[in-house]
Amino acid sequence: MATGIVGEFLDLKAETDADLLAMQCGDFYEFFAEDAETVADELDLKVSKKSSHGSSYPMAGVPLSELTPYLKSLVERGYRVAVADQYETDDGGHAREVTRVVTPGTLLETSDDDARYLATVVRDDDDGGGGALGFDGPYGVAFADVTTGRFLVTDIADGSDLRAELYRFDPAEILPGPALRNDDDFLATVRDDLSGSVSVFDAEAFAPGRAAHAVRERFGSETADSVGLDSELATRAAGAALSYVDETGAGVLASMTRLTAYENTDHVDVDATTQRNLELTETMRGDTEGSLFETIDHTVTAAGGRLLREWLTRPRRDRDALDRRLDSVEALAGATLARDRLREVLGDAYDLERLAARATSGSAGAHELLSVRDTLALLPALADAIDGTPLADSPVATALRDVDRERARDRYDELAEALAEDPPKTKTQGGLLQKGYDDELDELISRHEEVTEWLDGLADREKRRHGLSHVTVDRNKTDGYYIQVGKSVADGVPEHYREIKTLKNSKRFVTDELEEREREVMRLEEARGELEYELFEALRERVAADAELLQDAGRALAEIDALASLATHAAGNDWTRPELTDERRLSVDAGRHPVVERTTDFVPNDLELDAERGFLIVTGPNMSGKSTYMRQAALIQLLAQAGSFVPARAATVGLADGIYTRVGALDELAQGRSTFMVEMQELSNILHSATEDSLVILDEVGRGTATYDGISIAWAATEYLHNEVRARTLFATHYHELTTLADHLPRVANVHVAVDERDDEVTFLRTVREGPTNRSYGVHVADLAGVPEPVVGRADEVLDRLREEKAIEAKGSGGGGDGGTTQAVFDLSSGSFESGRDDPDGTVSDSGTGRPARNGDRNAEESRAAADGAPSARSEAALDPTAREVIEAVNDVDLAETTPVDLLARVREWQEQLE
Ligand code: ADP
Repeated sequence: MATGIVGEFLDLKAETDADLLAMQCGDFYEFFAEDAETVADELDLKVSKKSSHGSSYPMAGVPLSELTPYLKSLVERGYRVAVADQYETDDGGHAREVTRVVTPGTLLETSDDDARYLATVVRDDDDGGGGALGFDGPYGVAFADVTTGRFLVTDIADGSDLRAELYRFDPAEILPGPALRNDDDFLATVRDDLSGSVSVFDAEAFAPGRAAHAVRERFGSETADSVGLDSELATRAAGAALSYVDETGAGVLASMTRLTAYENTDHVDVDATTQRNLELTETMRGDTEGSLFETIDHTVTAAGGRLLREWLTRPRRDRDALDRRLDSVEALAGATLARDRLREVLGDAYDLERLAARATSGSAGAHELLSVRDTLALLPALADAIDGTPLADSPVATALRDVDRERARDRYDELAEALAEDPPKTKTQGGLLQKGYDDELDELISRHEEVTEWLDGLADREKRRHGLSHVTVDRNKTDGYYIQVGKSVADGVPEHYREIKTLKNSKRFVTDELEEREREVMRLEEARGELEYELFEALRERVAADAELLQDAGRALAEIDALASLATHAAGNDWTRPELTDERRLSVDAGRHPVVERTTDFVPNDLELDAERGFLIVTGPNMSGKSTYMRQAALIQLLAQAGSFVPARAATVGLADGIYTRVGALDELAQGRSTFMVEMQELSNILHSATEDSLVILDEVGRGTATYDGISIAWAATEYLHNEVRARTLFATHYHELTTLADHLPRVANVHVAVDERDDEVTFLRTVREGPTNRSYGVHVADLAGVPEPVVGRADEVLDRLREEKAIEAKGSGGGGDGGTTQAVFDLSSGSFESGRDDPDGTVSDSGTGRPARNGDRNAEESRAAADGAPSARSEAALDPTAREVIEAVNDVDLAETTPVDLLARVREWQEQLE
């Protein structure tokens, strides 16, 4: 058992649930034992040994003054670090106690510009969970960013929306309420989707009464009502977040000045999977480079960058608001000079939102207040850059209108009058404030000046008066003020000089008068330091009291910056203003992919989705550009609803209530989840969530399972999306068979990405054309990949043969009369079951005609019947009872009531039955 200082460390460590403990020992903060090793590893510190009663412990330390940057690094790496400060006990000894715990979500000083959220999530305690994504709501959620004072609270109905929202905010730290902290599904989601760490906090803090009290105490009893925070779950999340911030960050709670209760009604539903698939803020590989945000971000301020990111991850449905944003972008895009001037002015701006938080939490120093001053000074310059330009009549001008410019001017004047230009780093040594700001301070300063003037002239006066050469007057820490006289003349000093030190070439003296002046200087300096500190704190508090003003001004600057960024990108890349409409439509003329067009000689493509043609089946060889085409559609939709111009010659965009995508799940594979399960969960989520107003992108469905299963699911999903959901849909598939759906479902159309095939060479044209491809190109890809020629050749033969048959047997056989086996065949060209017979040569033929079953042979009426799922009488006659049963069961499936996963299970049952 360790005793002494290490023992004390271990005792304190046991008291806190933090990951690491930094304990003050004199002028150092020390980490011992395992903590020392962790910290040394993370921060490249040297480990030494501390012996304690025969045992030796690793120890690593940092000087007091350097703790903050070290803490920041540790916390940004996800550690929660407790800090134990040392204090003097009554008997003159030392004791230590944990004074704060610095956590990822409550760190005030961060080194990056991104928002840094703490998220609390609460679910009703007795809800069991379950549901499509493993956990069901409703939830209360709070997001607190102590660095900007933003505090957002909401209710969320289900697990999928919760995932989307958490993914969007990407919190640095997550506090699950009591019902969630052992919920494996929730924890798995956090682990898989998010980079933040999970912390456990006192369950009591989530209790309705305590939480409501915490909210009232912080924001007053009316605020909760006035901002519409009326749900118990949301209040519990909000209250717990406040208590946590209060408990961990010393003084940080004060920075939480704004309570915003929000609802998601105006927003486009973009689930977490879709945010990731569309690579909005990072690529599937996890890089920021190559993401949509990184590509179009030309903001010059941190706050502008944060806002632009928010616009992209939270597209809207409010057409008026979007049109206003587009008006601004259009005005800015057209006014190059004014835009450049605005961006130049903005380039000098500091992060007012963060400065406001620093001011309210009391951690702002003189340099921060100078930054406030300099940024407020930009408001008139911005107004000037707008006035008299084409921007004056655009909504860009209104952005500044919400800022109380008069108050900003007053606050600026006061700061300009108060603050010294080059203040010292510490708040207590004086020199923070200028002359003319405060009478009492002026008096101190002028007296101080008098005395220093007297001291400055002393050497000359002494030389003259006593006929001495080589005299200087100076000051240092040990001797205070002194008169220094060269050794050669030191014997001639007057009698009232008292010698205090002999140096090699000189002697130091003091006089009574000098000592008196010295005392006066010290007194004045101390008084000045104290007074300045007081005045400075009062000034800071007045700035803090104006936090709202700073936040409004910061918001206005951010908005102009984000708008100018959109305009800059639009102007530089030939983007166009989308026409927003309430019609159900997405019509793009010569559209491009916003990211791919930056690095490729891009071939533009058109797109037309509307009420008559709402579902496109996209075919084409691998690597031809199917995904790019579909993603570009989704990104154009999303950009338009973010208020941005779009990469196209022209675009008419019907406002969507949701954008849903499902694409090959590469990253999920890496996480060891079954791809097929994930694929089905995603599909299920889309089929549940999408509506007639949504845009759905499906890049392969059913690939993760056997062909029969896969086609069945893709087929049924298409019918369901077309008939029931009626969402605008783009569906790329390698099941070439699905292209026949266009014959049966009125709003389905085929498009394909064209290739040029000459002399067995395939050239990708990147052009999207009407109609299906006439073949799939898997064999060609095998060839490209260097699969040996005999295999490629044979594969081609097999493919030709299969293509001729154009049918897949649905297993199961009945007794045939003439030696051949009669089969029930699901004819993929029509989507119906047919009876067929095995010819001796193995070709499946139509029982009636003996010809291979081909879609073109069937008349329109039959096709319609087939599409409805009704088998023709002719086929039924030849079936055995089991097959008929199965067919009836298929017929009875109510697609509106069946999820794909259920359907999958049913298909399996039928297969078993038929065997
Ligand atoms: P698929 O989904 O058909 O396999 P992708 O959409 O992944 O094909 O496209 C393959 C490659 O072709 C991409 O890397 C992309 O850079 C390029 N590409 C796709 N569409 C275009 C286009 N319209 N113009 C130029 N290059 C394109």
